[in-house]
Amino acid sequence: MAMGILAKEVVSLPGVGPSRAAVLGRLGVRTVGDLLLHLPRTFLDRRSVRAIGSLEPGIPATVSGEVAHVAERRARGGRILLHALLSDGTGQMDLVFFNAGFLRARLYAGARLLATGRVDFFRGLSMAHPELLFLDGPPGSAPDPGGMLPVYPLTAGISQGVMRGLVRRALDACRSGLPQLLPVSEALSAGFGSRFDAFAAAHLPGSPEEAEKARRFLALEELFLHQSYLRQVRAGASAIPGMALESGPGVLREFVSMLPFVPTGAQSAALAALSSDLGRGTAMRRLLQGDVGSGKTVVAAFACRAAAGSGLQAALLAPTEVLASQHERTLSRLLGPMGVDVRLLTAGTSRSGRADILRDASTGAPMLLIGTHAILEKPVSLPGLSLLVVDEQHKFGVGQREKMLEGLDPRPHLLIMSATPIPRTLAMAFYGDLDVSVIDEMPPGRGAVHTRVVGEDGRREAMDRLLERLAAGERAYIVYPLREATEGQDLLDATTAYERLMAGPAGAGGVGLLHGTMPASEKNARAGDFAAGRTAVLVSTTVVEVGLDVPEATVMIVSGAGRFGLSQLHQLRGRIGRGGRDSWCFLIAGRDTGEKAMERLRAMEASNDGFELARRDLELRGPGDLFGTRQSGLPEFRVADLMTDSDLLERASVIAAGHRPGEEARAEMKQRFGDERGRHA
Ligand code: ADP
Ligand code: MG
Repeated sequence: MAMGILAKEVVSLPGVGPSRAAVLGRLGVRTVGDLLLHLPRTFLDRRSVRAIGSLEPGIPATVSGEVAHVAERRARGGRILLHALLSDGTGQMDLVFFNAGFLRARLYAGARLLATGRVDFFRGLSMAHPELLFLDGPPGSAPDPGGMLPVYPLTAGISQGVMRGLVRRALDACRSGLPQLLPVSEALSAGFGSRFDAFAAAHLPGSPEEAEKARRFLALEELFLHQSYLRQVRAGASAIPGMALESGPGVLREFVSMLPFVPTGAQSAALAALSSDLGRGTAMRRLLQGDVGSGKTVVAAFACRAAAGSGLQAALLAPTEVLASQHERTLSRLLGPMGVDVRLLTAGTSRSGRADILRDASTGAPMLLIGTHAILEKPVSLPGLSLLVVDEQHKFGVGQREKMLEGLDPRPHLLIMSATPIPRTLAMAFYGDLDVSVIDEMPPGRGAVHTRVVGEDGRREAMDRLLERLAAGERAYIVYPLREATEGQDLLDATTAYERLMAGPAGAGGVGLLHGTMPASEKNARAGDFAAGRTAVLVSTTVVEVGLDVPEATVMIVSGAGRFGLSQLHQLRGRIGRGGRDSWCFLIAGRDTGEKAMERLRAMEASNDGFELARRDLELRGPGDLFGTRQSGLPEFRVADLMTDSDLLERASVIAAGHRPGEEARAEMKQRFGDERGRHA
């Protein structure tokens, strides 16, 4: 068995020195195993080279011939178009490349090559950016091996030929066998005798079908490792004893009786789950998922009440100062009368206020401490910490929350609130280590939300509606993608709009400006003014996106709406429709709105349901982009694609439940996901 070969650095392969290793590093390839997981993005299929004369437009094909003629043209916008006319005796094919100067030296009249791509028709048969294989390469270059030729993702400093050679050497080094990570039956049922066979088929398949089967097998393996990893995180956490809180039915009944409203059925179910979780001696790990406005806060409030009522401490983390302040206002109102000491600690807290809080906290006195993740950066001593509530999880990341809990014994309960409506399959990838409560029901008595997509000429109508609602004593948000005007992007910035509004009829009831780069104290002041009605209009960038709860707000106008993602738009729109009155959301699509963006806006018009929109978003953009790539917290899989492989995710979870990973699999988990904490952030 070639045990450990996969973990070897690429420099251990013949022909790889430090500089090549550095180039590979830029592709995320550091070990022999990484190289094997660097799967081809496509193949040059040379099993069936077609005669150019027999081709029809609209199908993918491989052709082989000699370059008859090369020409360069400068297209509009300064792009260089390179045309090579390929001839095979039965016909001619125009191969077109944009900005491909690097090809210029190799494409000359008389060059022999293979081209694979989609056949188009533009004044004759053509292919845009085909994959090429030069058949008369420099002396010593590899002979054409025929069959399916892999085409790899590359970076500057490495060619397809070199990459192919490296992968082949990596495969050779593993030929004596690789440890099986999945149960053996999985490889067999996928039609592979061994794990090595699957890797070989993924890189050097006999057919496109075989390549896809191999890729799916490796994707299943990767998802199995990830699911096993999440189970391990969970098991590690539950191995440490927790704290049983006083949270039983009596405590819950009393809490509910003091609420200003009757909880919805979904809230009641979540409360019941918490009531039972918190009373057990093992730490709760629960995700509370619910669309914007579904009423997650009171559920969290119950947990905080149980902690304080048990003589212990709780901490609530919010993603922004504005939200932390809002939580402090809401929870003081709710929990103050129940005797809970609610404190707010943010960057804006005065030096002496901070010292007081830190001192009281360190005595272990029962309290609810609310703050932003700044609390995490300079850890606060909370010796009586029995509960950590994290709002809007995806802005935090697994790493940050686990850091807060690391080494604590007994282990505090963990409640994560997320308004990110993710399809079930993705929830498993995100939160496989947590129990889930879903609030899938809105509090009663909400007004309807009307959404309209309009062009620039619809701005008038939107402003008329805004003035009408202001006159009725209601409030409005106006959202811009930019803080300040940059050249040529007139009308898209909050500052200019703010100045105009102040001077116009909407200025009468007071206008506030809120943007991300303001000092926190100012942001809080502006949000507070709006919440209290001292200003009737809040002009902002997307900082209002999360969590602001102002039931009197009934109009939202979003400029440059095409620049926002679907989830972001949904979060934005969630700021209105929180009271009993009807609301209006105008999405203004500028002239530069592309087709994809227009589809997103139409989806907003068609649905108010966060889950439905998340599904649409996934279709339109793919998971990597779901909530803005960096913020998503989605694990970065190397083989699996959550769009096309979601069925495998479920299967992987079932396998992980019934099959303990072996020693090799555990080593792989550590290597592939062990640093995930950092990447999740
Ligand atoms: P989110 O889930 O977006 O955090 P919040 O917890 O901020 O939602 O609740 C949104 C609004 O709905 C708040 O003003 C809250 O007081 C109100 N609310 C929550 N639950 C109920 C209920 N069962 N009945 C009526 N209003 C409710
Ligand atoms: Mg909230």
